Amino acid sequence: MNLEDPSASFPDIRQSVKKLCSDFPGAYWRALDREREYPTAFVQALTDAGYLSVLIPEAYGGSGLGVAAASAVLEEIHRSGCNGGAAHAQMYTMGALLRHGSEAQKQKYLPQIASGALRLQAFGVTEPVSGTDTTRITTFARREGDRYVVNGQKIWISRAEHSDLMLLLCRTQNRDDVEKKSDGISVLIVDLRDAVGRGLTIRPIRTMLNHATTELFFDNLEVPVDNLIGREGAGFKYILDGMNAERILIAAECIGDGRFFIDRASRYANEREVFGRPIGVNQGVQFPIARAHVELSAAALMVQRAAEMFDAGLPCGAEANMAKMLASEASWRAADMCVQTHGGFGFAEEFDIERKFRETRLYQVAPISTNLILSHVATHVLGLPKSF
Ligand SMILES: Cc1cc2nc3c(=O)[nH]c(=O)nc-3n(C[C@H](O)[C@H](O)[C@H](O)COP(=O)(O)OP(=O)(O)OC[C@H]3O[C@@H](n4cnc5c(N)ncnc54)[C@H](O)[C@@H]3O)c2cc1C
Repeated sequence: MNLEDPSASFPDIRQSVKKLCSDFPGAYWRALDREREYPTAFVQALTDAGYLSVLIPEAYGGSGLGVAAASAVLEEIHRSGCNGGAAHAQMYTMGALLRHGSEAQKQKYLPQIASGALRLQAFGVTEPVSGTDTTRITTFARREGDRYVVNGQKIWISRAEHSDLMLLLCRTQNRDDVEKKSDGISVLIVDLRDAVGRGLTIRPIRTMLNHATTELFFDNLEVPVDNLIGREGAGFKYILDGMNAERILIAAECIGDGRFFIDRASRYANEREVFGRPIGVNQGVQFPIARAHVELSAAALMVQRAAEMFDAGLPCGAEANMAKMLASEASWRAADMCVQTHGGFGFAEEFDIERKFRETRLYQVAPISTNLILSHVATHVLGLPKSF
């Protein structure tokens, strides 16, 4: 039985991440947020310190740690008021390549991803029409000799403008021509440095948070057949493992956000005096802060459990989903509480709370929305009838 307090795991990692983050205070993030600019210096600092290669085995130049250690990194980034969204995918997108790529592909890419010379932090799944119903994607890679010719469209593909490579999920057989609807889907490595302007157009989408997300248009983009990961048509299952890692790591970011909001609210409630006493004396102010802490602590236990199961190689689809749902809801409630505790100042840019409030809201929608998690739990865990 693991009795460790989740917030105390990997103390050395947490301490040094916190130190790195202290060089990137609120003013840094506010300036970027205003212009919707990418945090290049922050991502470079994380790369130089080796945090983005923690999941890559030592044999390929990484530190060979697990999702639990990576979660500690991301949680501390978010607790410090920073945002890991600009770079978290550099940690886990390579998972499909690591688990299902050929040795030649791994040798070619992983050491360079580990050093940061290559950025693989774009993952192209979502399409405007298919939405969450991934087997209905229609972006199609048609084989012509030693190349695939790709046509179609993707939406909400984050960091595509700040990535050298992208993992692209596309159909290599139409949905109507396969027995199982998840068959006929493949994963390609797209070299964005060659692709842009030669069949790929990237169009940024401005959103309520600074997330560098984009829309992609494929018009006869040629991709070498050598860039296929694993077997043609078997790509759907290759991405499922990676999705569990992604959900756990994003849940850890939510835990970090929640701790940020609770830290800030506790501090402010102790300092701010109204009616001649700190507002935190009032139970109407302190109970919501305490409740946020209780809810976040419970969610953190689920994140820890999911991470440990993933690292032990156990099936953890349910736990990864439950962790993401609980953590994203707990961080959102903590965000709301934090705004309320700050009164008018909760809305002031310079307090960073409204920015973090907008940022943490994303995680109830992406990378998977709450309803889809509930549907997974209902049908896969509880045996209820499928609704789709
Ligand atoms: C900022 C941002 C960054 C993103 N980054 C990426 C990325 O890098 N790569 C990528 O591939 N995608 C990315 N996404 C896409 C994201 O994963 C999707 O937006 C998310 O999975 C929801 O899909 P959708 O937007 O198509 O919603 P839809 O599928 O259209 O669903 C809309 C709403 O209806 C609900 N719903 C749909 N079907 C059902 C049902 N059967 N039962 C109950 N409720 C249902 C959903 O829960 C949701 O709330 C990003 C999105 C955003 C906003």
